[in-house]
Amino acid sequence: MELRLYNTLTRSKDTLRPLDPANVRMYVCGPTVYDHAHIGNARPVIVFDVLNRLLRRLYGDAHVKYVRNITDVDDKINARAAERGISIRDLTEETYRWFREDTAALNCLPPTVEPRATEHIDEMRTLIERLVATGHAYVAEEHVLFHVPSMPDYGRLSRRPLDEMVAGARVDVAPYKRDPMDFVLWKPSAEGVPGWPSPCGIATPGRPGWHIECSAMSWRHLGETFDIHGGGIDLVFPHHENEIAQSRCAFHTGVMAQMWMHNGFLMLEGEKMSKSLGNFVTIRELLTEWPGEVLRLAMLSTHYRQPINWTRQGLGFAAKTLDKWYRVIGEVEAETGEGNPFEIEIADRLADDLNTPSAITHLHHLAEVAEHEESSSALRRRFKGAANLLGLLGDTETGWRARQKEAIALDEGVIAGLIADRLAARKAKDFKRADQIREELAAQGIVLMDNKDGTTSWEVSR
Ligand SMILES: [Zn+2]
Repeated sequence: MELRLYNTLTRSKDTLRPLDPANVRMYVCGPTVYDHAHIGNARPVIVFDVLNRLLRRLYGDAHVKYVRNITDVDDKINARAAERGISIRDLTEETYRWFREDTAALNCLPPTVEPRATEHIDEMRTLIERLVATGHAYVAEEHVLFHVPSMPDYGRLSRRPLDEMVAGARVDVAPYKRDPMDFVLWKPSAEGVPGWPSPCGIATPGRPGWHIECSAMSWRHLGETFDIHGGGIDLVFPHHENEIAQSRCAFHTGVMAQMWMHNGFLMLEGEKMSKSLGNFVTIRELLTEWPGEVLRLAMLSTHYRQPINWTRQGLGFAAKTLDKWYRVIGEVEAETGEGNPFEIEIADRLADDLNTPSAITHLHHLAEVAEHEESSSALRRRFKGAANLLGLLGDTETGWRARQKEAIALDEGVIAGLIADRLAARKAKDFKRADQIREELAAQGIVLMDNKDGTTSWEVSR
């Protein structure tokens, strides 16, 4: 099976040809840990988790290395720690723990390595000194800057016109920059701000710029060049452009990664999500209301390169779908691997630039097939195995099934009692009370169905 992925570098769908099929290497830019991750942050995490699962399916678990970094040195972190009156370490540890819990609830496999920026300062200094020694960077007023004109093909990834990049860079033009596009590799730290011994004989302790972190961590864990680099579309310029400049100039290589993949933006109910608009939603807030699996299915229902419009309605559809699929599979174990034709059909769709909407459409079809062949648990096992490739129907602790069990743990006697109260209220024409009971139960995931014979039955919705 050929894996074709849209490569931002070439602007075309390219076939993945790993540099070493026994060691397929992927790097994805991870979170800056200072606050709860919002639902937009969940998109690359889920998208590249699907790719990670697919790569493992195609090349074998032992032959895929997935690195996602943690940015634990950043001015936003310093500011937030000061604001909360806690240490930087406490803030980053707490935030990282939240992030791990959130992504586990979304049923994302942990990456092979999650390197922290603060544990790779040595590598950053080494890279910076190399860049200075080869004339790609210079020291100015205790900063080290990358000199953009030293790289003739700078800008190949974003393909922005030069004047646009210069205009963007002019927002922050320090007097010590030789060129407005030059960017910071290292900067001095004032007292009270985290600092490490500086490179290039600079006396004042300092800290790295953001871009150099990813060049250092990908180098350490994946080597000078590797197969896939991913992140959100907002990272193309300047972050990824600058990563490429640093790594290629330090190692004299033609590419940093062969494939550059970028997921699209996330809109919330048709609007850009922002704190100032007051429509900023964290993963954690959503998880109080929906199982992680619903968020995952809703996210994957849009192709990763398209902008996604995140709506309650979309979550509702995902919840209904999962409800049905779990009913279809019942208690069967998943069948995985070469022998499962359903899984191959799903893998095929994912191998076409991670076409998750097509894979999900096909899962709907497979669910119908599995549902109508009542006698065959083999088909249900295959269906479940196929869905597992997308990280769905996994019976996780925070998944659908767990929520259902939680809901069922509501005393059935209590539910029966409330149903009786509701019938009595309706008989007394107290429809307000009747509706109130229906809503109370709905809030706990119990849906009432009024039958033709005047009785009421119930089922767990989510
Ligand atoms: Zn990065």
